[in-house]
Amino acid sequence: MKALVYHGPGQKTWEHVPDPKIINPTDAIVQVDITTICGTDLHILKGDVPAVTDGRILGHEGVGTITEVGPAVSKLAVGDRVIISCVTSCGSCSYCHQQLPSHCLDDEGTSGIGWIFGHLIDGTQAEYVRVPFAENSLHKMPTGVSDEAAVMLSDILPTGFEIGVRNGRVEPGDVVAVIGAGPVGLSAMMTAGLYGASRIIAIDLDQNRIQQAKFFGATDGVNSGDADWKDEVLAMTDGLGVDVAIEAVGMSATFQMATELVRAGGTVANVGVHGKSVELKLQDLWIKDIALTTGLVSATTTPMLLKLVAQGRLTPEKFVSHRFTFETIIDAYDTFGRAAETKALKVAITR
Ligand code: NAD
Ligand code: ZN
Repeated sequence: MKALVYHGPGQKTWEHVPDPKIINPTDAIVQVDITTICGTDLHILKGDVPAVTDGRILGHEGVGTITEVGPAVSKLAVGDRVIISCVTSCGSCSYCHQQLPSHCLDDEGTSGIGWIFGHLIDGTQAEYVRVPFAENSLHKMPTGVSDEAAVMLSDILPTGFEIGVRNGRVEPGDVVAVIGAGPVGLSAMMTAGLYGASRIIAIDLDQNRIQQAKFFGATDGVNSGDADWKDEVLAMTDGLGVDVAIEAVGMSATFQMATELVRAGGTVANVGVHGKSVELKLQDLWIKDIALTTGLVSATTTPMLLKLVAQGRLTPEKFVSHRFTFETIIDAYDTFGRAAETKALKVAITR
């Protein structure tokens, strides 16, 4: 088969590799029908994730068709159309029992991390992929759900919902600010309405993304390049601040913005991945009764989100801004990597 293989920082090729084989009885092999690229893949290509080594097939998002199942797999069959979750789950360790498979202790011996595709084992940017613990890590697709909608349920939609909206404890009537209107921030905006947010404020530096956010559930937009961005946001509340501030960028400056916007008693939900030290001004915050949450997506809400997609209540196919085939995956990386110029949100890559 062919696959997108990482060969060290800055190096990737679409090349011939051996077909994946069943290794453990709980594995399945899935023919990938559609995959996409995540900002994390760009981080890997920059060399920011040293656990990813030369020869690794990238990708942790995908939808496909089962072509083979291991002898212990009874609830899935060859021919089933499935969503591949970015997090694999053994289903029986203490974290999986706690509904935190993001920290699965038994994932292929990697102990403590549920995100292994395109990281610690070969991933989904390939014609075929081996899926460990298939019954826990694949979701059967109902009829009527498009591949382009479903592939957003591998990672971005559950991330925005679980780590942004649910950790942020959004309640009916809340004013929610989302800092960062990339695919993850937009996913938080798209799902904040599920819990009855009254206002959803998209904050970004990129005016195009602020415009786009209106199609993903944002009621308001603020450009944080404006000198009075904070006053603009406070004016959208009763003047005291937002109930929930979701950080979906991953920078010290944007985390500070979230802590400045939140009202007393509110929640700051950090979603962004931070590569550098972040200042926490506890001297200002201790008195405000705020909650601060962090998290790595577990994708345990994918079945629930899938029901909403099947009923047309959520339309994540809107994320697809550009379309490619496997043979042009290098062009897909180029377009996605220059998102500010190309206005890319998510690229659909099909066989
Ligand atoms: P992205 O790069 O596409 O989007 C980030 C957005 O932030 C962009 O629109 C950019 O214009 C905006 N931005 C940058 N600097 C800003 C500033 N100073 N003020 C306001 N806006 C600013 O990223 P994404 O794919 O949407 O992911 C967002 C974050 O979520 C990343 O840090 C990513 O690594 C992280 N993430 C976390 C998890 C998790 O489990 N916690 C999972 C997936 C991704
Ligand atoms: Zn587990």
